[in-house]
Amino acid sequence: NKGILQVVQRAKEAFLSGRTRPVEFRLQQLHALQRMITEKETEICTALKQDINRSQYDTPLLELIGIENEIKLAIDKLAEWAAPRSVERNLLTLRDEVYIQPEPLGVVLIIGAWNYPWAVTLQPLVGAIAAGNAAVVKPSELSEYSSLLLRALLPRYLDKDLYPVVTGGVSETQELLRLRFDHVFYTGSSSVGKVVMEAAARHLTPVTLELGGKSPCYIDKDCDVRIACRRITWGKFVNCGQTCIAPDYILCEPCIQGRVVECIRQTLLEFYGADPKCSPDYGRIINQRHFNRIMGLMEGYTPVVGGQSDSSQRYIAPTVLKDVPPQSRLMQEEIFGPLLPIVTVSDMDDAINFINEREKPLALYIFCTDKKAVKKMIEETTSGGVTVNDVMMHYTVSSLPFGGVGQSGMGRYHGKHTFDQLSHQRACLVRKLAMESVNLARYPPQDRRRALLCRQMMYFAFVPKLKGLFICYHISFYFTFLFH
Ligand code: NAD
Repeated sequence: NKGILQVVQRAKEAFLSGRTRPVEFRLQQLHALQRMITEKETEICTALKQDINRSQYDTPLLELIGIENEIKLAIDKLAEWAAPRSVERNLLTLRDEVYIQPEPLGVVLIIGAWNYPWAVTLQPLVGAIAAGNAAVVKPSELSEYSSLLLRALLPRYLDKDLYPVVTGGVSETQELLRLRFDHVFYTGSSSVGKVVMEAAARHLTPVTLELGGKSPCYIDKDCDVRIACRRITWGKFVNCGQTCIAPDYILCEPCIQGRVVECIRQTLLEFYGADPKCSPDYGRIINQRHFNRIMGLMEGYTPVVGGQSDSSQRYIAPTVLKDVPPQSRLMQEEIFGPLLPIVTVSDMDDAINFINEREKPLALYIFCTDKKAVKKMIEETTSGGVTVNDVMMHYTVSSLPFGGVGQSGMGRYHGKHTFDQLSHQRACLVRKLAMESVNLARYPPQDRRRALLCRQMMYFAFVPKLKGLFICYHISFYFTFLFH
């Protein structure tokens, strides 16, 4: 496809022109992106209504405010992030400049998923712009209205050559992946994540993979089940369950299972009324394939809450299933829809074993008021991120790195983490052509005495700073004396 090749070529040339280097240029682009979100909020909300029947109130709450905050933070902090970072010197470099200089990588390819099509493309883009990169943005073909709108809007606000949008399906993504980029930032499923990493490996291109998986949610029997269920119900059913960090399933002891079900039922009534299908706050499944997949997961089980569906609208009611066997299909793959299975465990240790026997999740949720028990659960498990006594909120803290571990992904972003992820941390040592006598110990011809001195010097090079200063003075004097 000549069009795609040309677009990428133009982005490369624009990057090589050097215009992204000055911080002022990056700030100007970030301000323009901020303007785009503010001025086009209504259009963006309408596109998402068409894509997944997302409520007009949810889109700012779930996507746009987060993007705006990321832009604001980048604008405020860019000068600090992009400045050389002074680091500790050792004895051998005591009189030199030693610093890390963050540098742009080049052209970044950003491939996004459909469930939060603006957040998963624009948040990495904020970091790419801040770090001085060019970026080719490939939104998902499944969120068609959002993709077309993004393609129409971005060139109206940002530099057209540096930040192009390529729309299309799998073949266009594959076409892009055959080309050489300086970083690939992918958000989507783990199976396509492997395809992306394989393609990037051919060019030795580094990747960030923001993937999914089954995020467990443990409810301790002694916590306030009513409040816990309210928070879980929101996190699970917002965006119709199509959220990468939604609680995928609940783990709890059999003695509270009935109460958990009742509290979720009550909360659903409060959130979406007696018929969620009529609620303006309840979404739809993205397409027929995903509708069929999610319905297939339920086969053979009788839900205790919900279970109704309407294929013509791709509607699936908020659904809860209890006593779900760990080996069921529901528990094998990420649900990514409005089904909430409950698996019972005998105690917290059993829950920890259950989590550790499976792939490392993107998020872990713990509802528990016993601080010691919470600490134990955090220490004895792993996950991309963890939120205690709530769900999904760690995503909103831009100082926390957001990303997965193992099968849930690699690399991290948000706030400064995106800037760092899309920068090269260049190691810089600037020396003077002075104090040559100190260097004599490392030059040939070598003998035992010199080798010993060199070894001692290397050893002292790693002692703490103040002590180092003192020793440095003596050693340099010693060397000067010895060799001259
Ligand atoms: P998707 O189908 O829209 O795919 C994402 C991108 O991959 C699209 O741009 C698409 O063109 C491309 N793609 C699809 N198949 C491909 C192939 N065979 N070869 C090359 N490119 C291909 O999205 P999805 O994968 O259904 O997204 C849902 C998944 O994304 C879930 O697992 C969810 O947990 C995860 N997700 C993760 C995050 C996160 O931040 N970690 C955020 C959102 C979604």
